[in-house]
Amino acid sequence: MKLSVSSFNKYQGCKRLYYIEKVLGYRDLTPKPWLEFGSNFDALMELVDTRDANEVLGSVNDIFKDPFQAAEAEYLVRKWQQKYSEDPQPPIENGNQYEINVDLSHHVEDRFELIFTGYIDKVYEEDSEPAINERKTTKDPINETSVYWNRLLFDPQIVGYSFGLSSILGVEVNNVTYEAFRKPQKAVDSVLFTRGTNPTAYREKLLKGLYGPVKRSAEMVNRKKVFITDELREQWLYEFVGAAEEIHAKNLLSKEMDQPELEWTRNAGYCDKFLPCVYKPFCGCNSRLEDIQYIAKR
Ligand code: SF4
Repeated sequence: MKLSVSSFNKYQGCKRLYYIEKVLGYRDLTPKPWLEFGSNFDALMELVDTRDANEVLGSVNDIFKDPFQAAEAEYLVRKWQQKYSEDPQPPIENGNQYEINVDLSHHVEDRFELIFTGYIDKVYEEDSEPAINERKTTKDPINETSVYWNRLLFDPQIVGYSFGLSSILGVEVNNVTYEAFRKPQKAVDSVLFTRGTNPTAYREKLLKGLYGPVKRSAEMVNRKKVFITDELREQWLYEFVGAAEEIHAKNLLSKEMDQPELEWTRNAGYCDKFLPCVYKPFCGCNSRLEDIQYIAKR
């Protein structure tokens, strides 16, 4: 079986959610505009990493269909240039969206095939050693002491990437740089980030604003470095293989997981951890998944 970092995290979060999406094949179609900005921004930064930044910014409207978002993305890239042009962390060859594919079958007691998969945002070199750059866009404060960073420290996803990359390259990959971009919004600076009605005028205001302070000294781009130890990777491997063995042994393809009354399949506190889970109407009652709005089968 193939198990990706995100599937593993989903399984750890809620086994029923894993079953609904990864086994039954449903997916959540709820519109999430903030995720769209993040993924478009990732695509933009990948181009900035490998091409002439000014040329890339000249066609930012091809990536962001919303001209206000395009202006904000340009503002963030230019903020990043101001701060990190001396240390851009360019990707190694094929370092953007670096694919992880590691055979872990020899770690499995039952001897079934287990392939760990995933994609790392960027692999770059730090002090001549491979390192991981993980980009985030967020509405939360990202100043030096913001609590935002606490939840990223030793995030299982990044430990998994560190394990995967170390296995592929045959060297310990310990260094990770989180690179966070704060989404421009009125709550950050109501004068600077009030859009108005004219995107061209808004863009000009943002470009002028590049050289002035943002309200409350809000950092719009910031980095935090973490060091992933061998112990963390070992622990991650133990939990990852354990989850894979459980999935295999329980034969999640059985209909057992499909029964809403099975409380054991849930992890307490996960249903509303990020946003209310879209499958809630199904869990704990007899609604059919097909009846829930915004859900589709692949
Ligand atoms: S509602 Fe809760 S138990 Fe049901 S799938 Fe979502 S997270 Fe899991």
